[in-house]
Amino acid sequence: MNHTPLAYSEIRRELLAGKYTCVEVVQGHLAQISLCNDQLNAFLTVYAEEALLRAAEIDVKIKEGNAGPLAGLVVGIKDLLCYADHPSQAGSQILNGFKSTFSATAVQRLLDADAIIIGRQNCDEFGMGSTNENSSFGPVLNYANPSHVAGGSSGGSAVAVQAGMCQVSLGTDTGGSIRMPAAFCGIMGLKPTYGRVSRWGLIAYASSFDTIGPMGHHVDDLALVLQTIEGKDGYDSTLMEDVASTYVSNKRVAYIKEIVEHPSLQVEIRDAFFEQVTQMKNAGYEVISVDFPFIDQLLPTYYVLTTAEASSNLARFDGVKFGYRTNDASDLMDMYKKTRDEAFGEEVKRRIMLGTFVLSADYYDAYYTKAQQVRRLIQERTLDVLSTCDFIVSPTTSSTAYKLGEKTLDPLQMYLGDLFTVQANITGLPALSIPMGVDSSGLPMGFQITGRAFDEQGLFEFAKSIER
Ligand code: GLN
Repeated sequence: MNHTPLAYSEIRRELLAGKYTCVEVVQGHLAQISLCNDQLNAFLTVYAEEALLRAAEIDVKIKEGNAGPLAGLVVGIKDLLCYADHPSQAGSQILNGFKSTFSATAVQRLLDADAIIIGRQNCDEFGMGSTNENSSFGPVLNYANPSHVAGGSSGGSAVAVQAGMCQVSLGTDTGGSIRMPAAFCGIMGLKPTYGRVSRWGLIAYASSFDTIGPMGHHVDDLALVLQTIEGKDGYDSTLMEDVASTYVSNKRVAYIKEIVEHPSLQVEIRDAFFEQVTQMKNAGYEVISVDFPFIDQLLPTYYVLTTAEASSNLARFDGVKFGYRTNDASDLMDMYKKTRDEAFGEEVKRRIMLGTFVLSADYYDAYYTKAQQVRRLIQERTLDVLSTCDFIVSPTTSSTAYKLGEKTLDPLQMYLGDLFTVQANITGLPALSIPMGVDSSGLPMGFQITGRAFDEQGLFEFAKSIER
């Protein structure tokens, strides 16, 4: 907590110099896991023995001089990602007992680069939530103050990094699930451009929004992981060509007036944000305020479209092919109903019903079609801003981490917390959250940078130029 752990490049230097071994690195993280995971609940399963065995194998490779580019990088993966022959449950009871027969492309590419996977991490059920309190395995607690939430839905992934239980995590972001917990936990998290990282092996929530991205303490670590997991994959036809190389930097940055003036924004966060703006100006950037007339449409658009996609994606969990099946069914229909009723949590059921409603014949045009049209308007206006500015900056969240239970009774209050993060998913653009200090009660705050499509490199360089 008090000092930032070493970046991977520094660890790698020591490993290659024989100062210590991968086995020792893994042992260090396992010790930290034994110390705090029971309380924090970040890891659902720890692959201790396996990680040590792999570390020993990689130590041999290091000695032989043929270790991969991520040798000894200790990674945790969110429970929404498949890892061959290991459990993946999406934080849900409906996938109880499920083990994937293949690995997600992102996971496989990390393994191929000699990273070490140390465990699977707690998250909101199917990624639906902003605090990790919707996990069927119980909430994840914030290491900065355990009476507060970790943020969600990649809460386990954030806290595992925050508490030093692994070096980096692989999270997923559909509406803010990497950036929000990163902000709540004082670490960094990147939501890549939609179409940059294969979604193969990511248990789908809302397929036109879902992304996989890295969380860690250092920009360079995020860049390294992204470089490893990105790029063409025959299993995901939505992957696109990199277009960023044609961009010209304007050294101009925008913030959205309606966001920094939003009544929900905590005063200390606004102050910290404007300090950051001063820092940007000192670093030679022109910072301008722009209008964004669709601020009130962001959340409705996001929640109509994602629940519609979720209602379709989650139809496959029927007790026949995967995971849980009820014990007490009189016929097939009854089996489907009881299985889903018994094993899905409340929030997931709420979203399936909402999604089914907005897709129903009588309401399709009024909700689903309308939301698609508004999605386009939001995209156009956002791209318009980015045609003259390199980045759009904002606080990542309007407040610091909530107290446990503070938002669970009112789903709408919970959804409001996603206001600053969903724009990047609606538009498909890349967005990075970096730490922005702590508030007066010691809780971390986050600074969000959204960039042009495929300009992750620009985000990383910008983040470094304004780092505190
Ligand atoms: N909090 C948002 C939601 O509940 C975002 C979730 C996510 O990015 N997976 O949908």
